[in-house]
Amino acid sequence: MLSGRATAALVALGWYDDIVARARPCDAILSRWASPEYVERTALLEPGGHGWIIDRSWFDPLVRRLAVRDGVTRVATSTQAPSTGRRVLATGKHAPPDGMRRVLGPDRVALTAAGPTGAVRGLGHRLTVEAVAAGWWSAVDDGVHVAVTYVTDPVVLRRHGGLDQAWRAVVRAAPGWLPADFRAIRPRVRPIRNRLQAGLAGPVRVGDCALSVDPLSGHGLALALETGLRWHDSDYPAWLAEQADRHADDGLAAHAAVPYETDYWQAGRSC
Ligand SMILES: Cc1cc2nc3c(=O)[nH]c(=O)nc-3n(C[C@H](O)[C@H](O)[C@H](O)COP(=O)(O)OP(=O)(O)OC[C@H]3O[C@@H](n4cnc5c(N)ncnc54)[C@H](O)[C@@H]3O)c2cc1C
Repeated sequence: MLSGRATAALVALGWYDDIVARARPCDAILSRWASPEYVERTALLEPGGHGWIIDRSWFDPLVRRLAVRDGVTRVATSTQAPSTGRRVLATGKHAPPDGMRRVLGPDRVALTAAGPTGAVRGLGHRLTVEAVAAGWWSAVDDGVHVAVTYVTDPVVLRRHGGLDQAWRAVVRAAPGWLPADFRAIRPRVRPIRNRLQAGLAGPVRVGDCALSVDPLSGHGLALALETGLRWHDSDYPAWLAEQADRHADDGLAAHAAVPYETDYWQAGRSC
């Protein structure tokens, strides 16, 4: 999902039309979070306006093309200077340390499986999010595939003796909207980090390299785009620190709202 918050950055970058031409508007968020009932929140009421359902398989290459069109070049090594302009580090959440690191939340892992569009019945143009005892599920359908993600504690993979066993076990216990045949789809594993790691050493950092936030916030991509606009401002470090505070607070509130007293949710309330 690309949150509505990204609109301002996309417009400022001149990328809005190229991105929304391919994206599918997200009409609503259907969640089971603080109460046992599903609650639907229309995207019309979102402060940033509605978001978009995107597939990173077209979104990432498109963003790279737009950046190149606008003069961004890739240098081969961290010591090589670009022929014009300034060097920034944009290598994502696994950036080398630069002496500054603030942990904003526990490490998590996301298991994502893609099925055919329509496999999660009744989803339509909505994002669904659901808290369970040891993590949370989400599903979104871009009209080609439905992507189902389970975010949990990495210890789950060890406890079940590996990815396949863990996935089968979590799908068995998943919410009723998840078709049982997702058990047979091998998920992709992605580590989740919650970090502010933008110090003053080395090149200026943008995107997850500077600040990576829990996907629960839904704002990782919007933040990354915003850092691309702000990195040369003198107040950039202060802005990053303020964003980190805000995300840490939002993360605590999201974990506090869930009525489970399990290790997973407690860890997120005490970080
Ligand atoms: C499971 C999961 C779900 C998420 N869901 C959402 C969501 O729904 N909405 C949202 O807004 N955000 C979401 N996020 C967050 C979002 O993915 C990130 O915030 C965003 O991708 C950050 O962009 P980036 O360009 O900084 O990093 P990345 O997208 O990680 O891109 C970094 C790039 O740098 C390249 N790279 C790394 N090292 C080098 C090197 N040495 N040399 C050259 N290239 C290198 C990598 O290959 C990669 O292409 C999610 C994150 C996770 C983990």
